[in-house]
Amino acid sequence: MKRLFNLLLFIALLGNSIAQNRVSVFETTSYIGFEDKENNFSVNHAMKVAGVPFSTYSSLEDAIQNPIIIIPSTIEVGTLPQTIIDSLSSYVSNGGILILSQLKENQLFNIAGVSDYSYSSNKKMIIGDLQKLNDESYYLDQNEEINLKICDTSFVTGFGTRNYVNTTAITLAFFEDSSSAILKNQFGNGQVYLFGLSWKDVILRNQVSKDYKAARSYSNGFEIGSDFYFFLIRGIFEKYIPFAVSKHTSVSNSNSSLIITHDVDATSAISDIMTDFSSYEYENNIRSTYFITTHYNHDSIAKDFWTGYEDQILSVKNKNHEIASHSVSHVPDFDNSTIVQLGDCDEVEHSNYHPFYNGTISNDVTVCGEVSVSKQLLKEAANIDVKSFRAGYLAYNKNLLEGLESMNYSYNSSNSANNVLTSFPYQGHLTLSMSSDTSSILEIPNTISDVFVDNRISEDNYMEKVAIWKSVQKKNSLNHSPTVLLIHPNRLWKIVAEQSLIRDLTENTAIIPFEEYGQYWKDRVSTDFDFEISSDSNMIIQLNITEEKLNKSLSFSLKNGLTLNNIQVLDADGKIVKHSELKHHDNDKLVYFSEINFDHSIFTYDETSKLINYSVYPNPSNSIFNFKFSLINDANVSIKLFDELGNVVEEIMNNAIELGNHFISNTKKLNQGMYFYKISVDDQHYFGKVIVN
Ligand SMILES: [Zn+2]
Repeated sequence: MKRLFNLLLFIALLGNSIAQNRVSVFETTSYIGFEDKENNFSVNHAMKVAGVPFSTYSSLEDAIQNPIIIIPSTIEVGTLPQTIIDSLSSYVSNGGILILSQLKENQLFNIAGVSDYSYSSNKKMIIGDLQKLNDESYYLDQNEEINLKICDTSFVTGFGTRNYVNTTAITLAFFEDSSSAILKNQFGNGQVYLFGLSWKDVILRNQVSKDYKAARSYSNGFEIGSDFYFFLIRGIFEKYIPFAVSKHTSVSNSNSSLIITHDVDATSAISDIMTDFSSYEYENNIRSTYFITTHYNHDSIAKDFWTGYEDQILSVKNKNHEIASHSVSHVPDFDNSTIVQLGDCDEVEHSNYHPFYNGTISNDVTVCGEVSVSKQLLKEAANIDVKSFRAGYLAYNKNLLEGLESMNYSYNSSNSANNVLTSFPYQGHLTLSMSSDTSSILEIPNTISDVFVDNRISEDNYMEKVAIWKSVQKKNSLNHSPTVLLIHPNRLWKIVAEQSLIRDLTENTAIIPFEEYGQYWKDRVSTDFDFEISSDSNMIIQLNITEEKLNKSLSFSLKNGLTLNNIQVLDADGKIVKHSELKHHDNDKLVYFSEINFDHSIFTYDETSKLINYSVYPNPSNSIFNFKFSLINDANVSIKLFDELGNVVEEIMNNAIELGNHFISNTKKLNQGMYFYKISVDDQHYFGKVIVN
């Protein structure tokens, strides 16, 4: 009874102090006279990725209840009333943390520790002080993470920045001319962080591809761009809030998530090798996502490679993989919105949609046709409600999201993570414009792929390319960022490439399919929480939803969690949610609700195996056995059948054959009984038992 009373008291206390550990986003819209959607979106998105509990306020009176305030908009001279300026100053003086960007109001210069600034529109780089930034954020510990390109040297002007003249502030990051770009100042008991950049320019601008070629690589690189700001914000939160709790960015107890996707956009893929990939993955407890091109037209790109292959799609689905759309016609000018217009999503159907690419230009291709008809065909083939889309060549049409929305898609994967300068999902903007509305479609960008623009991947060099994938995956894993892999299932050696990556994944990497990660991310964003620490080091994490609604892949990171006595998670009804705990980083803890199976090590073949995906069927049979197998190289192959005494009954084949898929059967009539087969591929041998009824 006493325990129950204590618990109730504790919950009551939590009710009183519930706002104490949140970040306030203070939107100054009512003072600045316009709705600053772009900066507001960018800061709200940063909070979502950082996974910190936050609330958005339009009144400072509400915002100052929390220990950290971030103001998304530029504070122009004279826009904030004197009372607000005074309140901000005393808030910081009394221990508050204030995060500002592009400050122009000189009455706030003293709390920011600066005396002046100069404006510029030609800055190209942000160069961090590694030691100081690493002190702010655990994640910012590598040179690639603190040397950020913001504008390519080929542009004379980029976006506007302000470099500040420090008085008492220290500089965390500089522009390339050594002027101060990101500063920090202690004022009284509090701190002010000042960014000489607008949030929209380092977050939203990248997402809608309006950046000034800020990416160092288009794909297959490690590029943190916008993620720098998310990590820094989480770092500030963890630095000043004792035992800070934030939402983890990878599923459950994993360190990072690998999402394997395949683009099935050629005859060889859909007719054959897709099946090899999907079987291989199925046997190894891996679920992945197949983006299928339903190319039913004959044009200069390809002949019809859809009609007649519907069963293959069903077989991939039956191996628990996800099926998504990779368009109908896969045209290279899909991103040209003059040639490929939106079209009418209500009217278009398979029977009246006749896309054609003549070798130079698309004819009768529309966004609605591509997203709607491919969805209809995949539904007919395998009874799948398609939710995800990827454009051919990642050619991003500015009307794509509108088409996807009207056809009830949920996810889009038409961006390269390097190009949009983030590894994390984000809510897309319609018409690829910073000022347009947000869409309901979640964008999940691709990180690594088998498309290498210069020095293409081949049978001779693929292990070198896999080494690049491994290095990106490793760096992402240290940041708990997701890695989306794109492999075209059109060559058998690509299975070996995939396998090699999987074998060398960093510890505790979860392999999950695309839409499952998307659903996790959506639930992660919508699940809010608060936390409270009692004087005797007991932590309560209070969820805003009931346990039934909790996505059990969600997990929490607790700064210095190892030193806590006890951790409790309560749902919205005050019920205890059972959880597990794990040491995380040096002294932190991960609180999670479901276990991930990290075991993908039981491979059916290894890198040195020359024979893959072989099967002998039917077994038992009434005489004839079919041998189906794939070779990863040209080889001498012999197949022999033996009886129980070891006598050769039939030599089914013995000759040199080419790499690829093969199929052969015995011809001799066999009597009832048990037989053995031996498949020799050069010097490797594979044995098995078959039965004749
Ligand atoms: Zn493709």
